[in-house]
Amino acid sequence: MRRIKTEEIKNKIIDALTKANFYLVPEFHEFLKYALTEETSETGRQVLKDLLENAEIAEKERLPLCQDTGMVNVYIELGQEVFLEGKLLTDVITEAVREVYTQNYLRPSVVNDPLRRLNTKDNTPPIVHFEVVPGDKVKILLVPKGGGSEQMCQVAMLAPHQGMEGVKELVISSVKRAGPNPCPPVIVGIGIGGNFDYVAYLAKKAILRPWGTRNTDPFYANLELELLKEINALGLGPGGLGGKFYAIDVRIETYPTHIAQLPVAVAFNCNSFRLAKIEI
Ligand code: SF4
Repeated sequence: MRRIKTEEIKNKIIDALTKANFYLVPEFHEFLKYALTEETSETGRQVLKDLLENAEIAEKERLPLCQDTGMVNVYIELGQEVFLEGKLLTDVITEAVREVYTQNYLRPSVVNDPLRRLNTKDNTPPIVHFEVVPGDKVKILLVPKGGGSEQMCQVAMLAPHQGMEGVKELVISSVKRAGPNPCPPVIVGIGIGGNFDYVAYLAKKAILRPWGTRNTDPFYANLELELLKEINALGLGPGGLGGKFYAIDVRIETYPTHIAQLPVAVAFNCNSFRLAKIEI
């Protein structure tokens, strides 16, 4: 059994989450540069230039990448051989979020109740997901996720007979409905299978897959590439203002499902892609 102090995890979260608010995910940044060399639409090129300049200013002047500082989504892989010592892990994560957002004057973007809507003033609480995995490590992904892209995500409970065509139709109609709202270029995450709640988790988790990897099943890897082509063929482009690069990638995650169900979820990230990774 490996002992890890939750205070140690908190300190690492503070460091990583602070940086995530000021620095674009490096691979995403590189892709924007590449897209600028390939984009043929003049408006699309201007949007990409603006995004690159924005990232440069944020980094140099330590300004948030976007005014929408997001609600912090946390994905934890907890090794089964880890013994956590100290305060409750979820409590130290909340404390870390509070510290990062108040000390860096990042916009508090969370309300305490969905209908009465009082701002919590410190961007807490975060949304935390746990998975227990083999081993003696703790891996944490922290994603400050903007409201614009989150608001465009969709879950649909398709009937099994709708099959592949139903999935494709849902993805394309979700993209058309989303248009400029998720602040493209985006990564489209797709969950297929599981049940109503798990499919949304799959779609959002898919977005976080390591850069440059495809679904390990060639059937779904091909579907990712096919959908990427179809989405970009709509011509929505950067900013949704026309061009070749609306989606940077399509990533699919699947899970077994019930014989009577075909759950599908479509999730979007946005051009302010912020992601912090911690491994202890
Ligand atoms: S969706 Fe992303 S880029 Fe758009 S306003 Fe929100 S955080 Fe900013």
